[in-house]
Amino acid sequence: MRLDELEDVKGDLARLRYDLAGLRFELIERKYRPDQARTPAGNSTESGRWVKTAADRAGLRGEQPIRGFRKQDPSLHIPHPLSDKLNGFADDFYLSTGRDLVVTSGSRNPVGQAKAMFEKFSDGASGDDYVNQKALKEIRDAYDEGAAAGLSKDEVVENMRSIIQSQVNSGIFVSKHLNNGAADVSVTGLNSKERRQLYKSARASGFKVHPEGHPRHLHVELKN
Ligand SMILES: [Zn+2]
Repeated sequence: MRLDELEDVKGDLARLRYDLAGLRFELIERKYRPDQARTPAGNSTESGRWVKTAADRAGLRGEQPIRGFRKQDPSLHIPHPLSDKLNGFADDFYLSTGRDLVVTSGSRNPVGQAKAMFEKFSDGASGDDYVNQKALKEIRDAYDEGAAAGLSKDEVVENMRSIIQSQVNSGIFVSKHLNNGAADVSVTGLNSKERRQLYKSARASGFKVHPEGHPRHLHVELKN
């Protein structure tokens, strides 16, 4: 198998893993609310999705956020339209559980993304969950080469940042955090029922969801 074919297969595998994570949580949702009505398939853009979120049931959709999301750190940058969607998500989660939605990461510049990936790799994550495996590999190589050469963390992060910046300059975004399309949401302190509701509220609010580790959080991103 040629190298570019191998990269394609790796990319397909990453996408399948991503879809599988989503399907798993859909199954949990169905088990959790088997009585929840669904629109018939093929009926509209909403077909096959849950009919109502808690916010819909309370007649609150489209109005000012009733609770809204909370930033773990006030300096987090979360621009529109991501912020509106997160407010809808937060309200649905709050109405369902009485708990706040805490956002731990929002939009990132290349240095922020480099730091986040450095931490992820340091925690042992391989990066096989990135959809663009070619872009991931370029950044991962900078990390591995820096570690092998005994560079400091700051030096390695700078090398990773430089690659991420050149990718961005070519219109390649290894993560949707780089183009205002993703946020991370805390799962700390939530029991299993609340965690299931967190996934459910995220999906009902139109996000693609993806659980991530270290520290454990839920990555949510806008659909294109
Ligand atoms: Zn994320």
